[in-house]
Amino acid sequence: MNLVERDLKIIWHPYTQMKTAQPPVPIVRGEGAILFDEDGKKYIDAVSSWWVNIHGHAHPYIAKKVSEQLTKLEHVIFAGFTHPAAVELGERLLAILPANQQKVFYSDNGSTAVEVAIKMCLQYWNNQGQSRTKMLAFKNAYHGDTFGAMAVSGRSAFTAAFDSLLFEVEFIDLPTQENIEDLKSQVSNLKSLLACFIFEPLVQGSGGMLMYEAQYLNELIAHCRKESVLTIDDEVFTGFGRTGKPFAADHITEQPDIMCFSKGLTGGTMALGLTTCTQQIFDVFLSDDKLKTLFHGHSFTANPVACAAALASLDLFLDPATAENIERIKNSHAKFAERIKNHPKIKAVRQTGTIVAMEWETGDNTSYFSSLRDRLYNYFLKAGIILRPLGNIIYILPPYCITDADLNYIYSKIEQALEEI
Ligand SMILES: *Cc1c(COP(=O)(O)O)cnc(C)c1O
Repeated sequence: MNLVERDLKIIWHPYTQMKTAQPPVPIVRGEGAILFDEDGKKYIDAVSSWWVNIHGHAHPYIAKKVSEQLTKLEHVIFAGFTHPAAVELGERLLAILPANQQKVFYSDNGSTAVEVAIKMCLQYWNNQGQSRTKMLAFKNAYHGDTFGAMAVSGRSAFTAAFDSLLFEVEFIDLPTQENIEDLKSQVSNLKSLLACFIFEPLVQGSGGMLMYEAQYLNELIAHCRKESVLTIDDEVFTGFGRTGKPFAADHITEQPDIMCFSKGLTGGTMALGLTTCTQQIFDVFLSDDKLKTLFHGHSFTANPVACAAALASLDLFLDPATAENIERIKNSHAKFAERIKNHPKIKAVRQTGTIVAMEWETGDNTSYFSSLRDRLYNYFLKAGIILRPLGNIIYILPPYCITDADLNYIYSKIEQALEEI
């Protein structure tokens, strides 16, 4: 049996209808923005392997640092113990995050980083004897697949089987110049019930790369602060350069109370989650009363190898060459967007930093399950490009090391698809 046959015999893949899915592509090697399958066929990774890879695949510097860490310390329990990589990573991250972020809580993926943030907020009020359990989130939000993270995500086909079990969340529209005053009054009306407001800053990834303006997010955060509603900035996707600045929070002046990170945190090398918060939140958990403790942790919390990967990724991220690459991709995307925006088959083009997204005209059928999605996916796969449309929305978010030649090839194939599909 070859690899795919062995896979099909036993593996249950994520987000996959196993009855009708086509066989998975067997990838055996990666280098830069390119993945290679068993037969040596090349694929340009235009989606950064589910949005996690920022410096390219099998990066030798990250590999070296991970390997060094593996021969020193592979894991240690993080309750009652600590290790250099976790402390150094926390110190170095806090130094580049908004100044009010003072404490670091480790976990092991994006959903858990969000779970921790939600629990921090709920218990923040509970520890002070206040019952504030309602949460505010944006429509079409995505914050992860575990139950708490799913509850603060928009209700959709993906949550349908669980909807009755998800806790109650107030969903509001993305802020615009027209509705911002209305959104503020919604916050004011609910304020005594609200534990927190959680948001994806500037770009809602899974929701379809929906984008909104920093200015109105800023106003909303300011208003939440005024009404003492805690704010959670979920930067699991937007963190580490995606939006053109190191963090989406760098586009605004208001500082959120809590921030969540994963995905690009380790350069896409290993699973790691991180939740940061203010001193004020941390202090509410300080007590002689053991019940005020944040009782949360995972076996692989602050895993040293994952922290070493994150430190190596941070070294690369802070190298000026990375900022130049981000700028290069941003400018390149902008030119491409300008070129195709008036194409009759393009309903909308939008861009934030290194992310460019196009909505295809579909007539009426815009659902994720539309056959257009599969046709596009297969068209690009055949052309050696990994693009994973969200319904009728195609987006490119490459590793920052992608070459101009590869970017131009992706653009040209999209333009060709516009004529052929
Ligand atoms: C992907 C994502 C998550 C969940 O992260 P996982 O590591 O996949 O659990 C949470 N929030 C946002 C904004 C994401 O894009």
